[in-house]
Amino acid sequence: PDAPIGPLTGLSAVERARVTASARPTPPAADGPPGLWDRFAATVERCPDAVAVTDPAAGHTLTYRQLDRAAARYAAVLRRAGVGAGDRVIVQVDRSAAEVVAVLALLRTGACYVPVPRETAADWRTEVLRVTGATVAVTSAGLRGDWPERVRPVAPWAPDPAPDDESQIAQPQPQPQPRTADSTAYVSFTSGTTGTPKGVEVPDRAVIRLATDPDLLRAADDEDPGRRRSMLRMAPLAFDASTLELFHPLLNGDRVTILPPGPAAPREIGAFLREEGVTHAWLTAGLFRLMARHEAAALGALRQVLTGGDVVSPAHVRTVMEAGPGLRVTNGYGPTENTTFTTVHHVTSAEEVGDTVPIGRPVNGTGVLVADEAGRPVPPGVDGELYATGLGLAHGYAGDAGRTAAAFVTLPWLAGERAYATGDVVRWDDTGRLLFRGRRDRQIKVRGHRVELAAIEAHLRARPGVVDAHVSAVGTDDSDETDRAVLAAVVGPPASALRELVTSLADTFPPYARPALWCLVPSLPLNHNGKVDTAALAARAQPTE
Ligand code: ADP
Repeated sequence: PDAPIGPLTGLSAVERARVTASARPTPPAADGPPGLWDRFAATVERCPDAVAVTDPAAGHTLTYRQLDRAAARYAAVLRRAGVGAGDRVIVQVDRSAAEVVAVLALLRTGACYVPVPRETAADWRTEVLRVTGATVAVTSAGLRGDWPERVRPVAPWAPDPAPDDESQIAQPQPQPQPRTADSTAYVSFTSGTTGTPKGVEVPDRAVIRLATDPDLLRAADDEDPGRRRSMLRMAPLAFDASTLELFHPLLNGDRVTILPPGPAAPREIGAFLREEGVTHAWLTAGLFRLMARHEAAALGALRQVLTGGDVVSPAHVRTVMEAGPGLRVTNGYGPTENTTFTTVHHVTSAEEVGDTVPIGRPVNGTGVLVADEAGRPVPPGVDGELYATGLGLAHGYAGDAGRTAAAFVTLPWLAGERAYATGDVVRWDDTGRLLFRGRRDRQIKVRGHRVELAAIEAHLRARPGVVDAHVSAVGTDDSDETDRAVLAAVVGPPASALRELVTSLADTFPPYARPALWCLVPSLPLNHNGKVDTAALAARAQPTE
């Protein structure tokens, strides 16, 4: 059972009302069937001839009707491989229309998908199999050998020679299996901060609440309300930005536009956005920075760019807004455990960008609470841990009741509402928006003292000539704190300015908090998840004398 947190003692009536109002999830925006497949089927009925998926690399374009048929036929293939309702099935397929078909066919079969990236360590795969009990894997050619023999491989969907061949359509297809709001849509593995994979089990309702948020994505065209959005599909399926990229379009009759598989440089992404007429894109904070520097015009030409997953740099938001005055840039914040977004903040002009980009307000069907270490709500202006409530919450961690109970708590003063403790430190500003302040675990200890890495980072970012900064801890996590050091990576200033940066920190921070290791880099290196690659920075760092 989830552990309670609270209480609301000591709060004024006004404070109490404010806290309960924001912690209570906003009501869901749209009515419709409770299961994800049925929601998709309803879209197919609404706009059968609209384009659902474009996969230029493979040369496929599928309308909603064609995608529905492809999913039905591929569901029959999965059934023959033994897949049934409630099963968990590995999906390890390159970014493609075939990946979309695999996901939909699994949902139609009553199963759920377990995305696994192309490059995974053997230990990771073993853990995924152990935790999910998966016995079937949809895998691209060349990847099947990675799995043990007891895992049955199924080749991904390939288009039929004659897509409109009536004899094929007439073949009996298994009926879609019933799904409920509670059915698991996918199990997404994140490494967490400790390195051991955690399988986050996400229910249908959580995905539906994201895809039906009426304010999340603006229309493709203010003048032509009938014009459909075209959403870039880029994030690895194992990364939950893919939930937005796939299901927002597919439940709204919009187009999923698939970037060719494999790594892509900013220039190639920019060219793709232009050539394919993409209107909406989600980029990690790191890729957003790179695109802002090299392809600002390509982003400026979109209707909306969503970014997040990490602290978003205000300078780069400004650059992109200046390149596209009609654009909307959205800072989307949230952990996988609360399904892609917990809060969002929309920026609509370059002028409004201050020294931080707020993470904003809760999305559809979501509530938030900011509380101190004892679980007591804190007033605006005070840092506390963010808790999320509502329809976006995951069931928990597959096969790990202990971790689930530690992270998912209940609010006794809100009729036992369930809440996820994000581990993120935030505060309310005086206009009712949330500001991201750092990770709880970015609060490190050096020789017994607490160090806020985010605070050092903010200080460096505000120095003249600094385009970007990243501060991390190097050294072991659990051992003696004496061998831990703070590393600062800085983008922008010339090497001769380093001295000045070091001195400027000495004015503000005590000696133990000052970075002992420094590096000047042309841009922050990113790992395959699009987050700042701290290991690469550590390899380059030099000690200050
Ligand atoms: P994501 O897919 O968003 O990276 P993870 O579950 O891997 O999801 O990581 C979630 C964590 O990433 C959050 O708890 C927070 O620390 C950080 N994060 C996500 N979005 C933002 C954002 N917009 N600003 C700052 N930090 C963010």
